[in-house]
Amino acid sequence: MITVKQPNEIKLMKKAGEIVYDTHQLLKDHLKDGITTKQLDDIAYNYIVSQKGYPSFKGYQGFPGSICVSINDEVVHGMPSSKKIKNGDIVSIDIGVIYEGYHADSAWTYAVGKIKDEDEYLLIHTEKALFEGLKTIKDGSYLNEIGLAIENYALSKKLGVVKELVGHGIGRNLHEDPDVPNFKNNSQIILKEGMTIAVEPMLNLKSPKIKMLSDGWTIVTKDKKPSAHFEHTIVVTKEGYEILTKR
Ligand code: MG
Ligand code: MG
Repeated sequence: MITVKQPNEIKLMKKAGEIVYDTHQLLKDHLKDGITTKQLDDIAYNYIVSQKGYPSFKGYQGFPGSICVSINDEVVHGMPSSKKIKNGDIVSIDIGVIYEGYHADSAWTYAVGKIKDEDEYLLIHTEKALFEGLKTIKDGSYLNEIGLAIENYALSKKLGVVKELVGHGIGRNLHEDPDVPNFKNNSQIILKEGMTIAVEPMLNLKSPKIKMLSDGWTIVTKDKKPSAHFEHTIVVTKEGYEILTKR
């Protein structure tokens, strides 16, 4: 069931989204050669609870971390561990926060030090793909236009679109209806003012194929080439959309 949120609910999601955004800014400053993904996780946890929020992912279906940290060929769901970040890595950080019963969710891929030109290309165009998708959103538009725009943009840049994982509705639950695919689909859902969704393209430098590691969480590219992930939680408005996961 797709729910349309009331202004007071959107206000709480916006507050959750601000904590998500601020946590991203904080982690960005700590993303340096030598830091472990567990250290990043601890910084995120401490900050989020200091803001009276709680990490949405912690304990979600048994996930042990507060955030997901996915490095280079890791697509999503990287589990915080003793693994160290190195100069030249690209690091996807996915953060969800629940605040007074409402969630917000946003992922961003960061460059650590000097990265390869092809990685830079992947980052630039995955972020652009997110905004190509968002641009289609307004009250009365078809949800399937989001995926079509993202896929068309990604293919024009010769990037691989991950199809096994999709965006989602969000609100009282981290994952709600509807699914928000990043590719051409036949959804007949019409967006309405007050719907809140997370749009989150995951693009691979080469092949779109992915697999799960034996830890049962981390998703990686099959060809070991890099992957990027950009996500915002938004609310549909009369004229377009408003991003909830930023200041
Ligand atoms: Mg996310
Ligand atoms: Mg999400």
